Parts: sequence; C-alpha cells; structure tokens
Amino acid sequence: MVVLQHKHSLFLIDLNPKYPHDEQVYDDEEDLMIKQAFQCLCARCEQEITYLHMYYYKCDQCDYSLHKLCEKIPTKLQHASHSAHSLTLFLDESLGQCHICKSTPLYKQLKYQCSRCMFNICLHCATGDVQYHIIYHPSHQHPLIPVCRQRKILTECDACGKEHKGVFYECITCFHFLIHKDCVFQPKRLLIQDGTYGRFSHTHPLVLTYSFPIVDQKAKFYPTCRVCDNSFSENENLWVYKCDKCRYYAHTDCANAIHKPSSSNSESNEDSGKSIAYFCNVLIARHIFFHQLYKFMLVHRVVLNTP
Ligand SMILES: [Zn+2]
Ligand SMILES: [Zn+2]
Ligand SMILES: [Zn+2]
Ligand SMILES: [Zn+2]
Ligand SMILES: [Zn+2]
Ligand SMILES: [Zn+2]
Ligand SMILES: [Zn+2]
Ligand SMILES: [Zn+2]
Repeated sequence: MVVLQHKHSLFLIDLNPKYPHDEQVYDDEEDLMIKQAFQCLCARCEQEITYLHMYYYKCDQCDYSLHKLCEKIPTKLQHASHSAHSLTLFLDESLGQCHICKSTPLYKQLKYQCSRCMFNICLHCATGDVQYHIIYHPSHQHPLIPVCRQRKILTECDACGKEHKGVFYECITCFHFLIHKDCVFQPKRLLIQDGTYGRFSHTHPLVLTYSFPIVDQKAKFYPTCRVCDNSFSENENLWVYKCDKCRYYAHTDCANAIHKPSSSNSESNEDSGKSIAYFCNVLIARHIFFHQLYKFMLVHRVVLNTP
C-alpha cells in the first residue's frame, strides 16, 4: 500500500503523560484516566499511538494521525542503491525481504519501493534512520524502544517476571531490561471488575505500582493476590496492582486478564536452548548500537523534545 502525503497540515500534539511518581496523590484522577486511555492508529505504519509516545501529529480537519517519527519520513526518495528511479514509501504487508540488508520483517513495515522494478529496501537502509517508536514510561528513568524478537524465544519480562514472546520494550541504556508490549501498556489505574470481566470487584481503582518491596509486604502481613491467592514475588521490582488503603493487592496479569501474557509454551525446550547463544550475541551487538544511538539522542535532545 503506497503512502501518500496528507493533503492537510498537521499539528504536533503533546500527550502530556506526566504524572507524579508518588501515585498515591494525584489531584485529577479523572483527567489521568482519560489521558492514559488515549489510543489511535498511525495512518502510516498502522501501529498504535499511545500517551506513552508523548507527542504525535494530528490533522485538525479530518481523522488522520501520525507518530512523531512517522511524520518526518519522506514519501518519495532518491536513493543511491537504485538511481534509475525514485522510490516511494509504502506499507509492506507481504513481509518481503530488503534488497540491501536482506532482512525480513515479522510484521508489516514501512519500506521504500520502486514498483516498476519490484525493488524494495527497508527504512533503515533507505534513510540510515532508526524506525523505532520510543516511549517514555514512568516506571523507568530511560526511554524504551520496541524490539521484535527475531527468533521465537521466550524472554523474561521485567514487569511481571513471566515469559513472553513477541515485541518487547527495551532500555537503550540498561543492559537487558525488557518489558513486554502487553505489560508496558497496562493502565496506571484499573477497576478490577474491568480487568477481570466482572469476576472480581473492588470499589476503588487499583493503582499500578512498579515494585513491592519485602518490607512493605511484611508490614502488610504478607498479603496474597486477591485473584489467584498466591503470594507476591521476592523480586521486589515486579509490578503490582494495589489499593493500599484496603490492603487489596493483585498480580498485574491476574488483575488485568485483558493483557494476560501470551504464555505459549508450545515450542520445544531444545529449540529455545539452541537459540540462546544466538540471542545473547544479538543482544550484545544491539546494546552497543543503541548505546551509541542514545548518546546521539542526548546531544539532539532539545530538538527531539521541542514541539
Ligand atoms: Zn507510525
Ligand atoms: Zn486531514
Ligand atoms: Zn535493509
Ligand atoms: Zn526501478
Ligand atoms: Zn510481562
Ligand atoms: Zn534503563
Ligand atoms: Zn495473582
Ligand atoms: Zn480499596
């Protein structure tokens, strides 16, 4: 599908995801709920835009929105690898290979194409740019970028402690800090009746908290999860939904069944074992790359964050 330049002018919108770190005090709860519920589709890459992206572009005349990053990609490009014709931006649903780096995407992606020669190259090869939708999550001090596990490997998630497959949000600075897509976009405040399809109910919204220290667990007489009745992890940095006033606590995946981790263990263990060495190498290489990218971002920070 060819991507065309939008005919109206677009405006940069600030999604203002700022909320206090001490989540117990937030004056305008209603306002926060509305803000975090924001979600729309990007007209170019067809992936979701959420409040964690911080900014996005919006048309004021029609229903058209773009990620901040997707907006700056040109729809036409002259590229040295294919100087005979100009290349057009398109959304590749066929998951075809890039003619330069030979990479094959796992989900549909923006690419540049010459339709006459059926020549196409990925965004990275075309612009040297990195097509990552960075998010700013309150649980972590550094920006996170989405990475798709190239091999089908279950990876432990730093939010729920469980294993998932698929797209993870990874810290550019910390080594091996990963949160699965399903976990990272969980709502900050949740009514357990909404999250459990009415199976459980509590008057107050539960607050998503990014750790449950042992001292706190002890002080509350080691509470168990209201949904599964199991205790909480000794790993203090796992996320938990809670209403402290009522000592009502729940594991994130228990409270939010809608976002339950995709625990598909159908792969044989042998398979995942083989891939681990490969996985580590990729991880190290990527870490070095992202570290450099982050340094670049720091230098350009003013430009990136100024509307
Ligand atoms: Zn996009
Ligand atoms: Zn428009
Ligand atoms: Zn490529
Ligand atoms: Zn051509
Ligand atoms: Zn998780
Ligand atoms: Zn980090
Ligand atoms: Zn539970
Ligand atoms: Zn309560």
